[in-house]
Amino acid sequence: MINGSDPILLTPGPLTTTPATRQAMLRDWGSWDAAFNQMTDSICRDLLSIVSGQKDFVCVPMQGSGTFSVEAALGSLVPRDAVVLVPNNGAYCTRLLKILERLGIAAIELKLRDDEPAGVARIEEMFLREPRITHVAQVHLETSAGLLNPLDEIAASCARFDKRLIVDAMSSFGALPIDVSKGGIDAVVSASGKCLEGVPGMGFVIVRRSVLEASEGVSRSLALDLYDQYAYMQKTTQWRFTPPTHVVAALRAALDQYKAEGGQAARGARYQRNCAALIEGMAALGFRPFLDASVQAPVIVTFHAPRDPAYDFKRFYEAVRDAGYVLYPGKLTEVETFRVGCIGAIDANEMLNAVAAISRALGMLHVRLAA
Ligand SMILES: *Cc1c(COP(=O)(O)O)cnc(C)c1O
Repeated sequence: MINGSDPILLTPGPLTTTPATRQAMLRDWGSWDAAFNQMTDSICRDLLSIVSGQKDFVCVPMQGSGTFSVEAALGSLVPRDAVVLVPNNGAYCTRLLKILERLGIAAIELKLRDDEPAGVARIEEMFLREPRITHVAQVHLETSAGLLNPLDEIAASCARFDKRLIVDAMSSFGALPIDVSKGGIDAVVSASGKCLEGVPGMGFVIVRRSVLEASEGVSRSLALDLYDQYAYMQKTTQWRFTPPTHVVAALRAALDQYKAEGGQAARGARYQRNCAALIEGMAALGFRPFLDASVQAPVIVTFHAPRDPAYDFKRFYEAVRDAGYVLYPGKLTEVETFRVGCIGAIDANEMLNAVAAISRALGMLHVRLAA
C-alpha cells in the first residue's frame, strides 16, 4: 500500500496523493517570497510543456476549484456577442452551458447520449446549420461517465471551420495526450487535484498568448479575470490576490514526481493498467461497465449497479469505505450506476484490493449479481 492506513480515494479528485506531496504542505510561504513566486513560475513552465504550449501559449494559474478556472476562461476569453456550441454528453458539459447562461453568452447545445462521444460529423453539421457559431466549448474527458471525446479531430475541425475552441481538460490533463501546438485550440483548462495528483485548490488556463492579450476588459468578474491575473503576475511576479500557497507547494512536489515517473506517457500507462485491472476484477464479480471499451477513458469507470433489491448505494459505499476504499456515486440520470476512479497515487494492486473489498461488501450485504 502506497499510503499507509489512510483510506484510498477512488474518486476523480480529491484523490489519493503521495506522502511527498502532502509533506510539501508542511511549511508556510509568504506571497512576497521570491522563492514562492519562482515556484509558481516553474509550475507554469512545466504545465505549458505538458501540452507542448511553450511557443505560443501562456499559463495563467487561478485560485479555486476547477470550475473557477473554467468560468474564468469562458468569462474572459469569449466575447459577449459570441455564440458557443457545447456538445453535451454529461454533467460537466451541462455545467459549461450553465456558466455561459450566467455570463449572458448565447450557447447552442448539441445534445448527445451519456455514452456517445462528440463526433466531428455531428459538430460540423451544427457549424453548417448555425453559421453564427463562433466558439466551441468542449469537455475532453466527460468525468460523469468516464467518456473520452476525440479532441484532436474536434480541434482540427475547429481550425478548418475557423471556430475558437476552449477545452475543459480537467480530468485528462497530464494523463492523456494533448498537443496545443498542432493548432485549433485557444485554451485548455485543468486543475491541481486531478491527474497531476496535487491537492485541490487551484486551477490553470493554458491560453494562446494572442487570445489572452486581446481579452483585456472582457471579463465582468474581478476575481475571475484571466487577463488581469496574468498582467499582474507579469508585472509583479506575484499572484493578484492571496495565493493558495500550500496547494502551490504541493503541486510543485507532485510535478517533480510526475516528471520522475516519466511524464504523461508513464502517467497514462499507469492509469491504463489500473483501469484494466479494475474492469477485469469487477467483471469476474459480475459487474458490467456502462461504457463501451472503445470510448472508456482510463480515469473513472461507471459500473451498472446490482439489480438485486438488497442493493443500496449508501450501505454499499459505507461497507467498502470501512474496508479502506472510497467509491463515488453515479452521475447518470437514466440508469442506476456507481463509479470507481483509477487515478491518484495508486497502482493496479490497489485496484485489485478494492475489488476484493467490493466483493466482501456485497457478501456482507447479501447482494447478488445476476450472471
Ligand atoms: C473535476 C472536473 C471539473 C471541475 O470540478 P470542480 O469540482 O470545480 O473541481 C470540471 N470539469 C470536469 C470534466 C471535471 O472532471
